[in-house]
Amino acid sequence: MAIALILAAGSGERFGAGRPKALVELAGRPLMQWSVDVLREVAEIERIVIALPPGTPAPVGVMSVDGGAVRSESVRLALAAAGPGDPILVHDAARPLLTAGLARATIQALIQDESIDAAIAAIPMTDTVKRVKDGLVSETLDRSELWAVQTPQVFRRAALERALGVSDEVLAQATDDAWLIERAGGRVGVVQASAENLKVTTRLDLRLAEMLIAARAA
Ligand code: C5P
Repeated sequence: MAIALILAAGSGERFGAGRPKALVELAGRPLMQWSVDVLREVAEIERIVIALPPGTPAPVGVMSVDGGAVRSESVRLALAAAGPGDPILVHDAARPLLTAGLARATIQALIQDESIDAAIAAIPMTDTVKRVKDGLVSETLDRSELWAVQTPQVFRRAALERALGVSDEVLAQATDDAWLIERAGGRVGVVQASAENLKVTTRLDLRLAEMLIAARAA
């Protein structure tokens, strides 16, 4: 059975609420509660561990750990506390509009393809992406090959444990955990997700999330 790790230990500095972003209210519930409630519906998941800023009360019925200084350190700490279970689903609390269907599809993608070490949710890029140095474009990337990566990301436990066994410097460079698998030579499969699984980084994102929730309820 799978274990879900929810990452909610960020300071939320870019959001600027003066408190951890995971506690900011979205349509009547703390941001982190949305992911907890969705992942509880997924039959393949037997346990949820959430990484929180120290001193933050955990959602009812969920095991919690104090998060680390960087995102992947929070993953390492949550995984160490999680007890037995495989595969490991990692999800950012900053993506409250996750669906049970996407979580299940990502878990199944990993289970059904023995050749991969991880399966990650992502969407094809719609914007053109350019590399910019000192205010000048240095390169335009080929959009047909670019995907914007989300969570959930699902890992074979042994591969994730190996990938996390790196120096703190390398861990600090990881903006997602799949990169740690890639740099260790692992294979990462992609599951096409939806743009609705947005990441709440700014106030605008929170407003968009509220509108999408209202539209779902209508
Ligand atoms: O900083 P970033 O936007 O990449 O954060 C993604 C997710 O990782 C957020 O849900 C945040 O709460 C979590 N995080 C964490 N521990 C950290 C930094 C971020 O759990 N030290």
